Amino acid sequence: MGAIVAIVGRPNVGKSTFFNRLIQRREAIVDAVSGVTRDRHYGKSDWNGKEFSIIDTGGYVLGSDDIFEQAIDKQVELAIDEADAILFMVDVETGITGMDEDVAKLLRKVKKPVFLVVNKVDNAKRAEEAVEFYSLGLGDYFTVSSINGSGTGDLLDAVVEVL
Ligand code: GDP
Ligand code: MG
Repeated sequence: MGAIVAIVGRPNVGKSTFFNRLIQRREAIVDAVSGVTRDRHYGKSDWNGKEFSIIDTGGYVLGSDDIFEQAIDKQVELAIDEADAILFMVDVETGITGMDEDVAKLLRKVKKPVFLVVNKVDNAKRAEEAVEFYSLGLGDYFTVSSINGSGTGDLLDAVVEVL
């Protein structure tokens, strides 16, 4: 199957928006033919000539509150098992939440490459606000805007480096 990159994180941080941006070039052709927007959680992408599979782990969140924490743990566990690199996405708009801290705690024990990705950094002010994510204890982070695409190139340069 080749290298696998998994995107983990609590709901609403922008995982699917980022995923769709990565697979867009390939999937756009298929979607134009079928004429439907599909809810996809697996796709292929490539950067700097390196191909990889990408998993949007949001697919494992089942949307019921009582199983919610469990679902988050499950998606992180699956990512740890299956992926060669893990993108842990957080959201500068809401800042750090308890669920972010829970995921960070799990990921701090992981031996595989973990990239902390601060999403929704749409402007310079938000880039400054992103410093709070150092407190998750995962070291340095990448800032991206999945909506306007900024920062994604630098992130992908670093990701394909470890694949
Ligand atoms: P997921 O639940 O983690 O998959 O998050 P989604 O991709 O569904 O995005 C949740 C919401 O955040 C949507 O309304 C997106 O349009 C919005 N969003 C995603 N990325 C960005 C971004 O870079 N900037 C801003 N301002 N909003 C974003
Ligand atoms: Mg999603």
